[in-house]
Amino acid sequence: MDALGYLREQIEAWRRAGTYQALRELESACEPVCRFDGREVINLASNNYLGLTNHPRLVEAAVEATRRYGVGSGAVRTISGTMSLHLELERRIAAFKQVEAAVVFQSGFAANAGTVAAILGPEDHIVSDELNHASIIDGCRLSKAKIHVFPHKDVLAADRVLTELADVPGRKLLITDGVFSMDGDIAPLPGLAAVARRHGAIMMVDDAHSSGVLGRNGRGTIDHYDLHGKVDIQVGTLSKAIGALGGYVCGSRALIEYLYHRARPFLFSTSHPPAVAATCLAAFDILDQEPERIENLWANTRYFKDALTAAGFNTGMSETPITPVMVGDAALAHSFSRELFEGGVLATGIGYPTVPQGKARVRTIVTATHTREQLDRALEVLTSAARRLGILR
Ligand SMILES: *Cc1c(COP(=O)(O)O)cnc(C)c1O
Repeated sequence: MDALGYLREQIEAWRRAGTYQALRELESACEPVCRFDGREVINLASNNYLGLTNHPRLVEAAVEATRRYGVGSGAVRTISGTMSLHLELERRIAAFKQVEAAVVFQSGFAANAGTVAAILGPEDHIVSDELNHASIIDGCRLSKAKIHVFPHKDVLAADRVLTELADVPGRKLLITDGVFSMDGDIAPLPGLAAVARRHGAIMMVDDAHSSGVLGRNGRGTIDHYDLHGKVDIQVGTLSKAIGALGGYVCGSRALIEYLYHRARPFLFSTSHPPAVAATCLAAFDILDQEPERIENLWANTRYFKDALTAAGFNTGMSETPITPVMVGDAALAHSFSRELFEGGVLATGIGYPTVPQGKARVRTIVTATHTREQLDRALEVLTSAARRLGILR
């Protein structure tokens, strides 16, 4: 008797449906051209926006910190695992985001889930965009607060929900991604922040895909819209543009001290190795000192997006380097992705439950370090594969 037999049945069902996804094995560093599963491909599937994953100064910082401080912190932050490098990084992030304080978590996922679950309880209410990231959704569920989902980017709908909740007891949290990870569109933050303020709700923004991408030197959507002081909680990741690993929450000193006492990933999971903190510190230096990386990222973004549109692809709602190629059917998206790989391009097929049924896509992300030749080649491969599969006529 195999008590886990039902898992195998489900996996077989995914195989039959064409939605089973094998992991691609990356055999080189994460770069514009990488080797996956023995094949050289143009990588349009990483979040390494600025090409920092193997920037010499970040590598040097990691090696130097490891030599000096070893490979681990030895404990969770609240016991004995708070190293000078962790605190230096948090001060650096707070200054970068122009807020009082910041706290680093093991990942962006932990930052979102840990924070929402810590600050709200069963008597509270969360007003959440329907396309918010899974880590926000999990944090909302863990908090046991009542969850009110509003249609994507619909400021008036969010306002209506909060109006209906006006006389209902409990705290209210309005929460959104800054840039949506599967569609690449930007949240209507000025409108949402005004709605939150009018209703006395807490405003929280997850800038995982905007830090290092939008705003001055990559300060994110709050800076992009000049909303400093109008968003109570900002979340960011150190795993995407920053090139390493981790997440952070920033806001008031009181928020951060509260999280020290109540955020469960902070309390119950070991802090980053010193190499990670040192790497991230070096990355923030690069954001200040090499602004041309962000300029290149946006120049490549415009070039690639314009070319995709000109070729006849539907790129959905994208306004950022995340550019989906909309396909519709999940099995078709996965075959498209496989064809692209055979042609020398890595771009991931994404279907339900990551995106709604019928809105499957292949997601592309260009980086600052892709060359025009690489982007042109990728476009040829995309176009010919799409013609073969009837995605383009
Ligand atoms: C990637 C992502 C996260 C998680 O960040 P990690 O550091 O990879 O855990 C959180 N929110 C959004 C919107 C993301 O895209």
